Amino acid sequence: MSGEVHILGAGLSGLASATILAKAGKEVHVHEIRSDSGARFDGDFQGIENWTSEVDFFEELSDWGFDATEFKSDSFDIIDLIHPDDVVTNPQTEGVAFRVVERGTAEHTIDQAFKRMALQSGVKIHYGVKKSAEECDIVAAGPRESSAVAYGEIFHTKHRNIVAFQLNDKLAPGAYSYLIIIDGIGLICTCLWRKQRNSGRYLDETIAWYERNYDLERKPIKRVGGKGDFGIPTKYVHEGRLYVGEAGGLQDFMWGFGMRYAITSGVLAAKSLLGEFEYEKEVRRRLVPLVKTSAINRFLMNRVGDRGFKLVANQWMRNQKRSGDGLNFMRWLYKPGIFRRGLWPIVKIGMLRRKELTDGRVVHRMPFRKSLKRDSWDPSIEAEKVREQWKSTRSKGGAISFKESDA
Ligand SMILES: Cc1cc2nc3c(=O)[nH]c(=O)nc-3n(C[C@H](O)[C@H](O)[C@H](O)COP(=O)(O)OP(=O)(O)OC[C@H]3O[C@@H](n4cnc5c(N)ncnc54)[C@H](O)[C@@H]3O)c2cc1C
Repeated sequence: MSGEVHILGAGLSGLASATILAKAGKEVHVHEIRSDSGARFDGDFQGIENWTSEVDFFEELSDWGFDATEFKSDSFDIIDLIHPDDVVTNPQTEGVAFRVVERGTAEHTIDQAFKRMALQSGVKIHYGVKKSAEECDIVAAGPRESSAVAYGEIFHTKHRNIVAFQLNDKLAPGAYSYLIIIDGIGLICTCLWRKQRNSGRYLDETIAWYERNYDLERKPIKRVGGKGDFGIPTKYVHEGRLYVGEAGGLQDFMWGFGMRYAITSGVLAAKSLLGEFEYEKEVRRRLVPLVKTSAINRFLMNRVGDRGFKLVANQWMRNQKRSGDGLNFMRWLYKPGIFRRGLWPIVKIGMLRRKELTDGRVVHRMPFRKSLKRDSWDPSIEAEKVREQWKSTRSKGGAISFKESDA
């Protein structure tokens, strides 16, 4: 391969590709519509999972030539797992279960670290530029549509560092909510895998729940959020263009842990352009089985509700007792196995919808599911107080990164 390489999108997948190509001596141009990398997520905490491979993700990063000390990360080996009936148990592991990083435009975020590594390698990043996929060799433009959304509030707190993960179909329809606290900054986030009107009430009620159960003394700063696009394309290379990260549907359907897939697919795309292997084959060997297994898990989760969530939480703890390590259950969830593989045709028909995109690609998308009768309930008094508190923060300039009507 010779000449310039053009990449659409300066998110993690695009910057990972760009860095590897530039280090190999290519002239690389990255085109980004926003004014900076990470602007999509300003100030959000996200977790990088460590269970879809036996190799620690930071070792992989280092093997690929990325310096993980360029960004702030906090490792966790234990979490509070909150069952739907409010019982709290503690999955834990000997190593690192996952790492919390900050997304956004601050210096210590993973986005700015990947930007710095790209620039140091000689990549030219053009911000504030809208390009089309047809003009680029690698498409790393993130989600197009919504299959699910997540809304969170960032706040000051004196509570110790903690990660809590809650399976609760009322507070997070079809999904989960979480609390992350790192060095005095907290995030409470709820994910909605069924489409709702006035989504902000789910966040208010979730915050009220955590306030009742953790000593947070929360002082709200801002509200953040975004969408996830879940779909499996029929091809990862289309008309010579390589689709990476969320633009290529390389994303975890079960919980939405997409960063590892984004960086890994970016690396695979770069290495394939450098002639190491064929992207289509490698991505199908390495990532697609994980994506499909996560889609099968998502299909099951979409069906279960709180009774099923309770079974999952109990099963997780039983597995930890038996195997001695809480991460083994998460690893098991991503192993295809005969039962899950057998479900794939049903998942494809029952959960995914074939769609032809404007660029001619065909994707089997997970549509945003409709709300259910049980999703409408009256807010608690505590949730109404949370809402009043947010309104006051907002009136004093508290930022919001999603539609006001959802806040
Ligand atoms: C609220 C929320 C919480 C999440 N939490 C987690 C988590 O805890 N752990 C985890 O692993 N993952 C999480 N994810 C998913 C994860 O953030 C994404 O999967 C990952 O960032 C995808 O990276 P990407 O490079 O594919 O896309 P992006 O990060 O979206 O980057 C794409 C870039 O392309 C740019 N772009 C788009 N169109 C154009 C165009 N036409 N021209 C130029 N530029 C364009 C965009 O502005 C953007 O900067 C979360 C997502 C959301 C929304």
